[in-house]
Amino acid sequence: MSRPIVATLDLGAMRNNLQVVRQAAPHSRVWSVVKANAYGHGLDRVWSTLSTTDGFALLNLEEAILLRERGWKGPILMLEGFFHTDELPLFDKYRLTTSLHSNWQVKALANARLNAPLDVYLKMNSGMNRLGFTADRVHSIWRQLRAIANVGQLTLMAHFADAEQPGGIVEPLARIEQAAEGLDCMRSLSNSAATMWHPEAHYDWVRPGIILYGASPSGQWRDIANSGLKPVMSLRSEIIGIQNLKAGDTVGYGSRYRATGEQRIGIVAGGYADGYPRHAPDGTPVHVDGVLTRTVGTVSMDMLTVDLTPCPHAGIGSPVELWGNEVKIDDVASASGTVGYELMCALAPRVPVVLQA
Ligand SMILES: *Cc1c(COP(=O)(O)O)cnc(C)c1O
Repeated sequence: MSRPIVATLDLGAMRNNLQVVRQAAPHSRVWSVVKANAYGHGLDRVWSTLSTTDGFALLNLEEAILLRERGWKGPILMLEGFFHTDELPLFDKYRLTTSLHSNWQVKALANARLNAPLDVYLKMNSGMNRLGFTADRVHSIWRQLRAIANVGQLTLMAHFADAEQPGGIVEPLARIEQAAEGLDCMRSLSNSAATMWHPEAHYDWVRPGIILYGASPSGQWRDIANSGLKPVMSLRSEIIGIQNLKAGDTVGYGSRYRATGEQRIGIVAGGYADGYPRHAPDGTPVHVDGVLTRTVGTVSMDMLTVDLTPCPHAGIGSPVELWGNEVKIDDVASASGTVGYELMCALAPRVPVVLQA
């Protein structure tokens, strides 16, 4: 590796995070959500670390097949079901649990020629108005599905839009309860936020994603700081250049940052083409040579610039943590107007990844 940037995945932290989920939802089974290439961590790299899970949830057929080819025999939940009818033979072959959110999917499943019934998650729209059947249709779809020979085990599924808010699931949960009245059904409702903060919504299967990777579903690290969750991904690099500024000197594209006095600036090998957010403003936290400091100037494609005032001993080759244990990905994200989810998913393929057992 010549260029110093590297992403390290702490697999022990990931195992720990699954344990935290188990403790938070001791009576539920766990779908570990590994969509989007395990939130940018690399499905093939991390799935076996999570192999004590009860099932994996994702939404891309290629990723489901990869898990089967690697030997995963447990359940796989396809969160959005099949996108086209011609995928059904593969759902059958690889024994995938399918979500059903639309009428056309119900018809397609009814008419498919399968070797064995598929387990089905009936997706209810509890207020997010993205995918799913509205509450008033749940009973009739449920009865319809019960009569279809291709339908195996049936579970009611919903997804919360505001589970990170204290009262955020009250209304949707009431809608779900109303829709489920009289149905003897298993339920899967809880994303990470509901898994952590709304035990009344745990039911049979929880579906945590972001907390397995050690970031906060609210986007604020302080909300999970005492939960025992640990960041899995660290993005580290080095200082590859130093500039000594005088008052009035500027840094980087657009000359956005202007020094007000003498100032040492470190140039870091890491930019938006590595997945560091270009929208990071001056003042975004960064850890240099063991000291917390801040970015200054616009992030470039391959470099970013940091204030070395608090780290007088830093020089060429000094270690830089862009995010990880010292600087939380949530803090970089919130400074940049986004969430940890987006940053981890956007880790660029050019960044070498090292696994830490
Ligand atoms: C992504 C997703 C999850 C996991 O969400 P987190 O906020 O990462 O825990 C759960 N359920 C569904 C349907 C999803 O799409």
